[in-house]
Amino acid sequence: MNNNVHERVGNQAIGCGVTSCRYNAEGSVCELHRVEIKPCYGCGNTGKPEDESCCGSYSHR
Ligand code: SF4
Repeated sequence: MNNNVHERVGNQAIGCGVTSCRYNAEGSVCELHRVEIKPCYGCGNTGKPEDESCCGSYSHR
């Protein structure tokens, strides 16, 4: 098993609609090669996607 967490696994293209993020391009694509997804702290525990995960690589423009 490979323990290098920074190694790319798979060949993903990251689609994203968060236009206020500096890494967003054309309102639909993330320019980063890798993003870190984090639990959404303080959003409850509802099982809804918006309450459970968010992009930890977000940076405001
Ligand atoms: S860093 Fe996260 S929020 Fe920003 S464009 Fe990429 S996926 Fe979207």
